[in-house]
Amino acid sequence: MFETDLTDVEQSAFTGGLPGEERLEALVAGALRRYADLDEGQVADYIPVLAAADPRWFGVALVAVDGSTYAAGEVARTFSIQSISKAFVFALVCEAIGHEDVHEQVGVNNTGLPFNSVMAVELNRGSPMNSMVNAGALATTALMPGATPAEQWENIRTGLSRFAGRALELDGAVYHSEILTNQRNKAIARLLESYGRFDMDPLDAVDIYTRQCSLAVNATDLAVMGATLADGGVNPRTGEQVVSAEVARDTLALLASCGLYERSGEWLFEIGLPAKSGVSGGIVAVSPGKGGLATFSPRLDTAGNSVRGQRACAYLSRALGLNLFASAAHPAARTTKENR
Ligand code: GLN
Repeated sequence: MFETDLTDVEQSAFTGGLPGEERLEALVAGALRRYADLDEGQVADYIPVLAAADPRWFGVALVAVDGSTYAAGEVARTFSIQSISKAFVFALVCEAIGHEDVHEQVGVNNTGLPFNSVMAVELNRGSPMNSMVNAGALATTALMPGATPAEQWENIRTGLSRFAGRALELDGAVYHSEILTNQRNKAIARLLESYGRFDMDPLDAVDIYTRQCSLAVNATDLAVMGATLADGGVNPRTGEQVVSAEVARDTLALLASCGLYERSGEWLFEIGLPAKSGVSGGIVAVSPGKGGLATFSPRLDTAGNSVRGQRACAYLSRALGLNLFASAAHPAARTTKENR
């Protein structure tokens, strides 16, 4: 799936900073060029309206924690945020109810199963497991503060807008297409209800969840949202503290283990960054203290992750030295060895 031979890309270790503007611009444009002709994967069609996406669409955007933006390709084209909303709704709920409660009421472990698995709920005796799969996302959305479902939805919409730094709006066509065809999510919600996991009407939670998935964003929005998580919860464009630094940290930990569903291990092994993907073709990856990287390309692998997006992120993670697990030996340690 991934190129193991990235030998033409200079590999750098995490240094605490991004390279200069010119190099960033060239690398982001290079990532787009490098994978623009890759035509592996299929556009999602289980939500009927998503099948209309043009498989050629491709955009890459990087927003640094100083607010500077580097972009190539279709970074202004809007698409529904889908599962990427789960990351930011988790952050808002974690901010509202706290680390302990979210851990206890939803969970933070990977299911090892597809995002819409019913079996995962059964195998785990009704635990929604984590906020990045549908069961956990439905349970998380239900925990969003608000006196009525309409108020909960408005709090989600305005909360995600604060992450993006602009007012995000619902794509009505996507919402209607999904709400008429998401029997599986309704079944998951009812199943969770049977385990006593809902304090609200489960179908209201499905409705809010479907709305949050239908928010229209573009790749640059996603990069700003990711940069906010990279920047201690402060949106680098607006300067607003959207969530606390602790919540940003907790969100990234969850994205590292669960952000790409059952492929999260493979993703972390190749790219080494917390990230979240969605079935309309978006991916947002976060480099703590450095910035947010977003890609948009609708062709997906069998787990529902954008094929070109994964490749472009692998390339940029490598070229920019973003892999969290990379280190270079301290010069003093080298000297010690030589003097031995
Ligand atoms: N709204 C979609 C669903 O629930 C989101 C899935 C995704 O992006 N993986 O099926």
